[in-house]
Amino acid sequence: MNKKDYYEVLGVKKDASQDEIKSAFRKLAKKYHPDINHDADAPEKFKEAEEAYSVLSDEGKRRQYDQFGHAAFQNNGGGASGGYDFSDFDFSDIFSEIFGGGFGGNFSGGRRNRATKGRDTLTKIKLTFKEAVFGCTKEIEVDTVENCKYCDGEGGTGEKTCPRCHGSGVVTAEQRTILGSFMTRTTCPDCGGKGRTYENTCTHCHGKGKVKVTKTIEVKIPAGVDNGNQLRVPGKGEAGANGGPNGDLYLEFIVQDHPIFDRDGKDIYLTLPLTIPEAVLGCKKDIPTLYGKVTLTIPAGTSANDKMRLKGKGIEDPNSYGKGDMYVLLDIKVPTKLTREQKKLYEALGDIENNDSWFKKIKDFLK
Ligand SMILES: [Zn+2]
Ligand SMILES: [Zn+2]
Repeated sequence: MNKKDYYEVLGVKKDASQDEIKSAFRKLAKKYHPDINHDADAPEKFKEAEEAYSVLSDEGKRRQYDQFGHAAFQNNGGGASGGYDFSDFDFSDIFSEIFGGGFGGNFSGGRRNRATKGRDTLTKIKLTFKEAVFGCTKEIEVDTVENCKYCDGEGGTGEKTCPRCHGSGVVTAEQRTILGSFMTRTTCPDCGGKGRTYENTCTHCHGKGKVKVTKTIEVKIPAGVDNGNQLRVPGKGEAGANGGPNGDLYLEFIVQDHPIFDRDGKDIYLTLPLTIPEAVLGCKKDIPTLYGKVTLTIPAGTSANDKMRLKGKGIEDPNSYGKGDMYVLLDIKVPTKLTREQKKLYEALGDIENNDSWFKKIKDFLK
């Protein structure tokens, strides 16, 4: 298979500079990327350009290619076409320039001057049942990233091109394995991928321009939040870069259970035990609610599993107006241990009921 000359593919001269090679590839990638160009031959053209660039952008490989042509990479593993295997090559720095951030990888060479929003952060915080129901103001500690105060987030003074990566933000290293040697590209450790370093690197942040900090912030938590709910606190995430805005902080709530109240959304449930006479005859009971004590009148003739509704005694809905309700679940307790006197009374009660019951009618029928 006749492979095209890499310089021809990119349309650059034999003595083209790295900048010319990069810019030529950038143009082709933009033109032929399969996400953009749906022509039948676009994927092939795009692949050709990728391969040419991955070789010519690397000074070592370029030298081999200049000397030996495509033969330089014939035995270099992979590639059914017998060409250079560039699958390990990381294009994400280029692609993120073309397609915007978020194109995989964390190479940041080339986007160093773009204002970007800081990252969002998530912190889980514990609330008591009452804090969640009524809302509260809390001081919380969050781990975040701030611009360094000593260098104004610059990383140092006297900015210059990084001598280690020559401004590309990435360094190439040869890795020898049993399958042959591979060239791997990683973020430049000297400039952290920015491609720029400083005459005087800030000693506080070691040139990063950012520092990790634990901050105490005060947040107001609205009434009615529930387990797993998230609250967005704008601008309290990580610091933005190059004047970009801060990210947001998300608080996720872990709400403790209450010893007697159960919660379902904005409704509250309370289980109230009743004796048999209380259920049969009716009674008055003082019960706790979220808003203080209430005297509840239980009508005569309550059945097991009856429930009573106290309208508006539930929880405020943080997303709309109005409150939920409170439900009192009536739990009739059948005694398991009786005193002699209680037993007599239940037996007497039983005799009366038998004389007047369905069982009596059956008995009479069977006589
Ligand atoms: Zn560097
Ligand atoms: Zn600093």
